[in-house]
Amino acid sequence: MKEFETNHPNTWCPGCPNSVILQAFKGVLANLVKDGISHHDLVAVTDIGCAGKFYDLLEVNGFYALHGRSLITAFGMKMANPKLKVVGFIGDGGAYAEGLNHLVQLARLNPDLTALVFNNRVFALTVGQGTPVTEEGYRGNTTPEGMIDPPYNPLAVALSAGAPFIARTSALDISASQKMIKQAIQHRGFSILEILQPCITFRPDDLVELRQNHKPVSAKKNNREEARQIIESWNYDQKGAIPVGVFYQANRPVWEERHKARTWHRSQRKVDMKKIKQELL
Ligand code: SF4
Repeated sequence: MKEFETNHPNTWCPGCPNSVILQAFKGVLANLVKDGISHHDLVAVTDIGCAGKFYDLLEVNGFYALHGRSLITAFGMKMANPKLKVVGFIGDGGAYAEGLNHLVQLARLNPDLTALVFNNRVFALTVGQGTPVTEEGYRGNTTPEGMIDPPYNPLAVALSAGAPFIARTSALDISASQKMIKQAIQHRGFSILEILQPCITFRPDDLVELRQNHKPVSAKKNNREEARQIIESWNYDQKGAIPVGVFYQANRPVWEERHKARTWHRSQRKVDMKKIKQELL
């Protein structure tokens, strides 16, 4: 795992469960390299937010995109070089608010890439505003009297749009998370893994709630109806059991195969890196 470490300081709050997922993710990368995937071909794309800091701490090729834009940037990378293993990191604010259309279109188009959605039901880096999956009544600094509008269920939307791999894990369970991250990356097609990652600074009670209420479920592969029932059994607001596990996994032709005959996205261009560097400097 050492080869994936950087010298960048870890700026997450001490005790943030993101650190657990970082370790789990590095373990998965080490396994992938052991399985024969080149370190050079592993790519991480992040946006802005607490989840955006993953790229600070991962020694892989990658890119910091704008807020809510990591998944569509990841798709651009796959278009240019389909052999890459690309993982997009994004928070619930980015994925389920600004980036929702990207999530829906990627579920529909099905490129072979992975979305890790860090869901803590809050915009954490900007100090605690509600997101589209925050429950009614949540008091943040922009909703001092409580959130008025209800959340929606983005995994149900992703299922409807055609996402062939949908799973959820708890950041408090490192071994289950590691297993599911690997499954998601190895799935050929667009895989969404929602990682419930309590923000211990702005929503400390979520830590206890998740520890008590996460409920591992095992769904049959490729059963949409069962997947829908599991996904809709928790709509991000009510108390009670929160299902975790792989909810749906199906084989669908991937975007790269459907567009095989077209070559524009694979054309080799001569890039003068020296010139680009000079212009940037
Ligand atoms: Fe983690 Fe919340 Fe701190 Fe962000 S603000 S680093 S999500 S504990």
